[in-house]
Amino acid sequence: MNQQHPMLQAALSAVATGCGAAKHVQRQLESVREVTKDDRSPVTVADFAVQALVWMSLNESLNAPLIVGEESADLLRNASQAAVLDAVVSTVQAARSDSTTAQVLDAIDACNHDGSADSYWTLDPIDGTKGFLREQQFAIALGYIENGEVVLGVMGCPSLPVDQTAALDHADEQGVMYAAMKGAGTWEYAACNPQCTPRQVHANTWDDGNTIRTCESVESGHSKQDETAAVLKELGSPSAPVRLDSQCKYALVARNQADAYLRMPTRKGYVEKIWDHAAGMIIATEAGAIVSDVTGIPLDFTQGATLQNNRGVICAVPGLHQRIIETISALGVGAGA
Ligand code: AMP
Ligand code: MG
Repeated sequence: MNQQHPMLQAALSAVATGCGAAKHVQRQLESVREVTKDDRSPVTVADFAVQALVWMSLNESLNAPLIVGEESADLLRNASQAAVLDAVVSTVQAARSDSTTAQVLDAIDACNHDGSADSYWTLDPIDGTKGFLREQQFAIALGYIENGEVVLGVMGCPSLPVDQTAALDHADEQGVMYAAMKGAGTWEYAACNPQCTPRQVHANTWDDGNTIRTCESVESGHSKQDETAAVLKELGSPSAPVRLDSQCKYALVARNQADAYLRMPTRKGYVEKIWDHAAGMIIATEAGAIVSDVTGIPLDFTQGATLQNNRGVICAVPGLHQRIIETISALGVGAGA
């Protein structure tokens, strides 16, 4: 991969700044809760601050980037949210001391592209909000879509240990960052530091005799865990999936810590969002894995902000992927309740 590619450099730097801001809020979880009188507000503060910082950073190097971001500043403009707005602005100022409140609000709202252009970024400033609040795994996910295809992805995993033997259910101090560009492989940046020399990672080459190592959401509302269990039982896999929040699951497959990530739909009407998958998908596929929905068709990024032509996600190494899709079909699962 050309590490000097301007878009890659811009994305790495933006996501690294976001990782720092997210950790900054996480160190102050209790005091943010205290000031805002709200248990969930720390993640709200981090979501807004990271979105603002990513836009400010990308805007500096790429000039008025189009971004389909998850957040809008409407809530922050409401007077009742003054304490949250203050916390967001001071988080942004910790990274960019000259930022004003108006600039922060405008930066958040600048990420309001609808995905109708030929090319645009998509950003999940804090993916895995529940993991963030539990002080477990979450991700800052930035993908670039060109003519309906994801061609670049950078994912900051500020609490994911680079050491694959370390436990995943508590936050690592350093974290790790992954980047992938179409045709150029997937690269691991230790300690969320874009200046370090990255290491190329490769997904597993799996054969029938291997034990299947899988991962899935912690939240049973996001992935039907009993259906994953049924599929694994049918495949003769004795080991239970590792559970973790966010797109870090794609990274586990990319770096050969898991052979598959299953996301079985929980309900018929739920439509996956592009910011929840763009970066993760290219990070997994450039490492050699296959990503599709539960019926086996590729994720379709031509539909604006959502993956409305898909249901669920199956990310797995070659050989295993097809067997999982066939098993889902044979068991008649994957439709959602
Ligand atoms: P995870 O951490 O993998 O459980 O995924 C977190 C993401 O799940 C969030 O960013 C949400 O956008 C998304 N999400 C919310 N509700 C659902 C649902 N019913 N099914 C699948 N994903 C969902
Ligand atoms: Mg998300």
